[in-house]
Amino acid sequence: MRAIALFGGTFNPVHFGHLRMALELKETLGFDEMRLLPSHQPAHRAQPGVTANARRDMLALALEHCPALQLDERELQRQGPTYTVDTLQALRAELGNQVSISFCMGLDSLLGLPGWHRWQQLIRLAHLVVVTRPGWQLPEQGPVAELLAAHRGDVDTLKQQAAGSLVLREQTLLPISATEIRSLIASNRSPRYLLPERVLDYIQTHQLYKSENQ
Ligand code: ATP
Repeated sequence: MRAIALFGGTFNPVHFGHLRMALELKETLGFDEMRLLPSHQPAHRAQPGVTANARRDMLALALEHCPALQLDERELQRQGPTYTVDTLQALRAELGNQVSISFCMGLDSLLGLPGWHRWQQLIRLAHLVVVTRPGWQLPEQGPVAELLAAHRGDVDTLKQQAAGSLVLREQTLLPISATEIRSLIASNRSPRYLLPERVLDYIQTHQLYKSENQ
C-alpha cells in the first residue's frame, strides 16, 4: 500500500533536528512520501515579526535540495485555527481509503494529545508514529496509556493498513531546539551549524528573532 507521512510543527525556524528526524523516519519506515506540515500559529502564540510566510519560506529553502522531503502548505492556507483532525480528514478525502497516512510526532506531543481537538478521531484517520525523545516516559495510566493499549502496532502495519496503529519509534534526536536558536540570535550569538546555511541567511536578511519575544 502507498504510504504517506506527515511531520507537523511550527518550524520557527526549521532546524537540522527536524530535518534529520523526517529523513530518518522516511528511510527507516519506508514511506513513499514525507511531507513537512507547518502549522498556522494561533494568534496568541504567534511571534511578532515572524509571519507564517517567513516560516514557510525558511522551510522551502531548507528542502530545496532534498527531493526526499516535501512541503505541505495546507494548514497555512486555511484561515483561523488549524486542527490536525481537520487536516487529516481533508487529506483522507483527497487520497481515499487505499493509502496509508501516518502522522509523526515526538513523544512530548503524544503526551499532550488528549488536549487536541477531537483527538480520539485522529487514529481512525491515520496512523500515529511517535518518536521517543530522551527524558520522557510512557504513561502507565490515563487516556494516552489507554490509546497505546488499544492501538499499539508494529512498523509493518504502516504499509498494510490505511490507519489505526500507534507505532513507537526510538530514534537518536539531535539536541537542537528552535527555542535555543531564537535565544542565541536574541543574545547576539550564532546558531550556525544548527540549521541550514540558507535558512540562516534568510534569518539575517530579514532580521528575524532579534529580540527574545520575537
Ligand atoms: P520550539 O523549541 O519552538 O518548541 P521545536 O524545535 O521543538 O520548537 P517544533 O516546530 O515545535 O520544533 O516541533 C515540531 C516537531 O519536531 C515536534 O513533533 C517535535 O517533537 C519535533 N522536534 C523538535 N526538535 C526536534 C529534534 N531536535 N529532533 C527531532 N525532532 C524534533
